[in-house]
Amino acid sequence: MIPGVPGDSQVYLNGEFLRLDEAKVSVLDRGFIFGDGIYEVVPVYNGNAFRMAEHLDRLDRSLAALRIASPLDRAGWIDLVAELIARGGMPTCLIYLQVTRGVYKRDHAFPPEPVAPTVFGMASAWSPPSAEQRARGISAIGIPDERWLHCEIKSVSLLGNVLARQQAVDAHVDEVVQFRDGYLTEGSSSNIWVVSQGKLLAPPKNNLILEGIRYGLLGELAAETGIPFEARRITREEVERADELLVTSATKEVLPILSLDGKPVGSGKPGPVYAQLRAGYDARIAAL
Ligand code: PMP
Repeated sequence: MIPGVPGDSQVYLNGEFLRLDEAKVSVLDRGFIFGDGIYEVVPVYNGNAFRMAEHLDRLDRSLAALRIASPLDRAGWIDLVAELIARGGMPTCLIYLQVTRGVYKRDHAFPPEPVAPTVFGMASAWSPPSAEQRARGISAIGIPDERWLHCEIKSVSLLGNVLARQQAVDAHVDEVVQFRDGYLTEGSSSNIWVVSQGKLLAPPKNNLILEGIRYGLLGELAAETGIPFEARRITREEVERADELLVTSATKEVLPILSLDGKPVGSGKPGPVYAQLRAGYDARIAAL
């Protein structure tokens, strides 16, 4: 039994669907030994994967960064996700996909001969943030970003993110806001947005942040609703003086951060830019 997960749920492993409690990988899998792999998390609403093409594009970018040939083509990934949704029996859920470099004698260097990547997929129960959660927003603390310099890769090597997230738990807040050399990067598992004088700001897309699928989406929604948007370096002071702070991720969708380091953000209530982007996000889901 794995605590918190129904053992009889169906997962995908290397071409087969099997019970979660029967899905096993080798202890020499390079994902286990080195964190040598990548993953994706795709939200599904009423049986429809949201922003699927963008998630699969990012999966391809992550695989290319690790020089792992994609084990499935685009149609294969789409079929796999559809099958996981159908077998999971949960119309609204999260689809987790993971690819590692596979199993080989332990050595840091890539295996010198072709090795089949390990491919894993599962559907997990998930509820989108409720009306109450949207109104309550989330709390955060600012911390130094101590992760590596390839945060743009959606790698399963997540120790820096794990330690960051635990700092939030230890401080009894929902998320961290990370700063590298005094500039905003991102959350432990989310992108962070600043609203200042009616303008939406985000850190630039580079190796210091993961380009969330919602990073592109919020840019589109801002353009549609006439909210000026700028991607640029943002100082800690600008974050602390923000009129609004927002967080985005597959699981959080878009939510307001209403307290930072124990102080209210702006008015301490969800702001007008949040409300507009939130409405746009909901409309995109409704149109799925
Ligand atoms: N940054 C990090 C470090 C993350 O783990 C995530 C969540 N996957 C995000 C940003 C947001 O990405 P997305 O919008 O694709 O969920």
